[in-house]
Amino acid sequence: KQLKAIAVKGRKRVPVHDEHGLLQASKQRFQEIYAAAKDGLRQHGTPELCITAEGFGDMPIKYWTGDTWPEGAARIGAPRYTEFLHARPLPCANCPIGCHRHIQVNGEGYALEGPGPEYETLGMLGSNLLVDDLGAIAVANDLCNRLGIDTISAGASVGLAMECYEKGWLTKEQTGIDLTWGNGEAMIAMIEQLGNRTGFLGETFAEGTLSAARQIHPDAVLLVVHVKGLDYPAHDARSSFSLAINYATGTRGACHMRGVTEDVEMGGLLIPELGIVEGWSEFFSPYNKAELTVLLQDLSAWMNSLVICTFMADGGGLSLSHLVEMFNLITGWDWDIDDVMRSGTRIFTLQRLVNLRDGHSRETDTIPYKMTVPAKEGFRAGKTPTPFSSYLDRYYSLRGWDSSGRPTAKILAELGLELAC
Ligand code: SF4
Repeated sequence: KQLKAIAVKGRKRVPVHDEHGLLQASKQRFQEIYAAAKDGLRQHGTPELCITAEGFGDMPIKYWTGDTWPEGAARIGAPRYTEFLHARPLPCANCPIGCHRHIQVNGEGYALEGPGPEYETLGMLGSNLLVDDLGAIAVANDLCNRLGIDTISAGASVGLAMECYEKGWLTKEQTGIDLTWGNGEAMIAMIEQLGNRTGFLGETFAEGTLSAARQIHPDAVLLVVHVKGLDYPAHDARSSFSLAINYATGTRGACHMRGVTEDVEMGGLLIPELGIVEGWSEFFSPYNKAELTVLLQDLSAWMNSLVICTFMADGGGLSLSHLVEMFNLITGWDWDIDDVMRSGTRIFTLQRLVNLRDGHSRETDTIPYKMTVPAKEGFRAGKTPTPFSSYLDRYYSLRGWDSSGRPTAKILAELGLELAC
């Protein structure tokens, strides 16, 4: 249909129950969030996460087959990112954090000014491919933006291609591109083909990594790091075990915006109102991983329905209590945290019912093979979230689902969703 998007613009103001109260609360929260983020996300944006994430074994390295890459993380992350790309904040409207980056850089054969790569992009187009050339990553990021393709799946596609090339399952005769690890020019050339569906690589990878793997080699499917066909984002479930459950049960697959459980495990996000306090869910401990996943999936479902940025709480320090207070000032309702979490559970459960209708079940609530292969060195050496079935059993039990991953009639009745079933 050649239809890419529908843009809608309204002229009327959104009614607010208590405008004065909301304004007062907003001013106060704005200052608090700005103060919490000014030396972190505001100063360097999400590129500030690279060195920390690599240290915790969280960054993807060599399409999830590498263990450590500290020198590369230092080259592509902040503070070098900020200096090399002349980066400064590029905030969304009225945002006190301004994590997005505006960059301005002139390099050999390119001149760029505009939005710069985020952490996910640095992970998937940088460490994931062993590309430490920030200029090449910035060009590839710009290209993805212009082509309208996601940098996470683009990075996963190039990563799979490079791994298959190394194994001899793809050759230069086929691809016309030297797909060796770390080759930034090859990355850019492949993304051009991907976005335009041209050339051998464009045709082979146009439907994503899973489809490409099936065409390339019988064993290539095992190399793809995905859930329900969606590529893993730039966070390693062998580091934060809760991610293995979160991505496996994510209602659109391995999505990094549906419950940032890794930030709790790394110590950056605490939500005392939900009992998520320091030391509650420690690295590599099996305790509270399923509990953490359920809580953050439900909270994210509610927050995403408000269209509020996760970073207000995760990095900006906005408490759940203050968020609920502002929600009530806007709506005129009198919700408490139990109401919020019940709403999130209802949203998540409805999405699960859609997944089940579409043929998903325990069989597709999976952990990719590479997440069962332990690192030989580094922070997560010897660690994997296995046996995964025990985590999944605990998760289903907490959700009130049966052993096949289907919500029981009892839990649907409790949530008032009998009719949806
Ligand atoms: S609203 Fe969120 S994504 Fe946008 S600049 Fe602010 S922190 Fe970043």
